[in-house]
Amino acid sequence: MPATKAYAAHSASSPLAPFSFERRDPKSTDVQIDILFCGVCHSDLHTVRDEWGGTKFPCVPGHEIVGRITKIGREVKKFCEGELAAVGCLVDSDHTCENCREGLEQFCQGGATFTYNSVDKHTDGLTYGGYSKSIVVDESFVLRISDKLDLAATAPLLCAGITTYSPMRKWKVGKGQKIGVVGLGGLGHMAVKFGAAFGARVVLFTTSPGKTEDAKRVGAHEVVLSRDENEMKKHANSFDFIIDTVSAKHDLNAYMALLKRDGVMTLVGVPPEPVPLEAFSLIAPRRILTGSLIGGVPETQEMLDFCAEHGITSDIEMISIDKINEAYERMLKSDVKYRFVIDMASLS
Ligand code: NAP
Ligand code: ZN
Repeated sequence: MPATKAYAAHSASSPLAPFSFERRDPKSTDVQIDILFCGVCHSDLHTVRDEWGGTKFPCVPGHEIVGRITKIGREVKKFCEGELAAVGCLVDSDHTCENCREGLEQFCQGGATFTYNSVDKHTDGLTYGGYSKSIVVDESFVLRISDKLDLAATAPLLCAGITTYSPMRKWKVGKGQKIGVVGLGGLGHMAVKFGAAFGARVVLFTTSPGKTEDAKRVGAHEVVLSRDENEMKKHANSFDFIIDTVSAKHDLNAYMALLKRDGVMTLVGVPPEPVPLEAFSLIAPRRILTGSLIGGVPETQEMLDFCAEHGITSDIEMISIDKINEAYERMLKSDVKYRFVIDMASLS
């Protein structure tokens, strides 16, 4: 296959720069997609800067991919050439383990293949993500998207969307509940939208006073400045569910104290440093702290269909790919409104 243009980091301390590599030729069950837009996730930044350890270079990030199918293998059943399609954080799994059989491929016991920074079983090379012109993926990991939604604003659903939708469904967020969302970034603003769509009362916790109006516009019923201890205390023991999307070290105990008896806090943010937890935050009154990783293929499709039905997309700021390093710096300052999306036409 001809070389695919991309942007890559060559080390944890170098900026992203133009790069080119070869995608595999589509095999019989593969779909080849011309990438039109790719969202920018904070996980891309954690990975290219090797903040979690284990990054292999060169690293082409990007796991919020939407585009148009340009070629299909002869056994492909679900897709046709010319259709829109999407790819999220996963591109392969063993398909046979208990977790895959339950549609939870992200927990594949044989080892899920992530869209970037994984070993590609077909080439023994690395997987390269969506900051590139095209991608080749087995059809079982390709998602259908609606042509009724704005295409660029659909891209972030593939990670920010499913990562917040999945735990909210798992813990049955709905009418009559008071739920909290910590952080108004890419994940956080999607969590607010889903919480409101599921009928819960949504309280947004933010460190950024300037985000109050936006939080209300995307669906929050109330906004709390998390650095104001008195405001925080007013909400003690009152939440059914809290989703924590914060990307940096912060105090979990302050949020645990806001849960009711048997209330649940789900971590989806992945700060690179350990976060301290006091035993009393959990044991009285019997609170639950849990975590969640993206979502499997069936639930990602369910989320995309839910979004199409309810007109839900991400609030985005479109950038050309040469602005990616600036976008990362703004992300570190919590200055994302509320997801950067790369227009891949800018990668010529
Ligand atoms: P993002 O757009 O940068 O949003 C993170 C938000 O966290 C910021 O907008 C800010 O909100 C808040 N924040 C940042 N630094 C903070 C600090 N020091 N103290 C308190 N709050 C702070 O990032 P994202 O793309 O939504 O990703 C968020 C996290 O989720 C990242 O760690 C990412 O790796 C992780 N993630 C996990 C999964 C999963 O499957 N579990 C999937 C995708 C991403 P305010 O300005 O409102 O305070
Ligand atoms: Zn992501």
